[in-house]
Amino acid sequence: MKGSLYIVSTPIGNLEDITLRALRILKEVNLILCEDKRVTIKLLNKYEIKTKLISYHKFNERSQTEEVIKELKNGTNIALVSDAGTPIISDPGFELVKEVRENNIKVIAIPGPCALTSAISVSGKVKNDFLFIGFLSDEKNKRTEKLKSLKDRSESVLLYVGPHDLKKYLKEISDIYPDIEIFICRELTKIYEEFISGKIKDIIEKLKDKEVKGEVVLGLIFNQEAGLTEITDKEVLDSINKLTNKGLSLKEIAKILSNEYNLSGNKIYNLYIKNK
Ligand code: SAM
Repeated sequence: MKGSLYIVSTPIGNLEDITLRALRILKEVNLILCEDKRVTIKLLNKYEIKTKLISYHKFNERSQTEEVIKELKNGTNIALVSDAGTPIISDPGFELVKEVRENNIKVIAIPGPCALTSAISVSGKVKNDFLFIGFLSDEKNKRTEKLKSLKDRSESVLLYVGPHDLKKYLKEISDIYPDIEIFICRELTKIYEEFISGKIKDIIEKLKDKEVKGEVVLGLIFNQEAGLTEITDKEVLDSINKLTNKGLSLKEIAKILSNEYNLSGNKIYNLYIKNK
């Protein structure tokens, strides 16, 4: 009989955030693949789990995958965990799961903590659709390109941000979307857990003299009002002028542009009047 691969979610800070099933599986499997043994051992020690740990991370993902599949084929049951939260979600393991599935071996989810879902659930800002990006590129050009590509979105966008990048990213985002509303979930489930929300400029001001430590989930609220950029305003105005020159009435223009730019009619009237 082949073994199974269990994808086990572990805490994102508070070690009590682990399910009974996760603890049982971590005890019962023959091997646990983890990112950093020093991190996972703390969890195992707390719950007196003695299962053997093997390191599996982005630098050895390829070479380890073959070995893991061999073990699974021999009947070994294996769990994959990451340092925090749900494996694969901005964490290693995708190649492994893909290959294991291709070999017709069972992959079983042991669901639990995830910074993304935790942030959404407490934000009071994301009701339905959202777009999860994870980490932005380390390269400024790619980051800017990605951020600009979001301009026509109407759903909220969720990003993972490392402790040292937050202020830099906020500045870059506000250069593109000066009026956007954002929220920040910092250090979820930990002692210094913090939630901040508001207009990006106000938040930049608030954080100006503070050192921001810890892990962050950043939400960008792309709704009709908050997502408007100065550039988009200009684009809308240019379109209004073009359509006016063609002899269309303001009512007709508002109808066309509200569809095209996903804007309210009021916003278009106001822009028109302000710039008449
Ligand atoms: N797989 C994990 C999950 O399920 O959320 C995410 C791993 S990713 C390498 C780490 C990023 O997740 C951090 O940089 C941060 O953006 C976010 N994160 C993890 N723990 C967090 C926490 N306690 N509070 C806020 N964000 C957290």
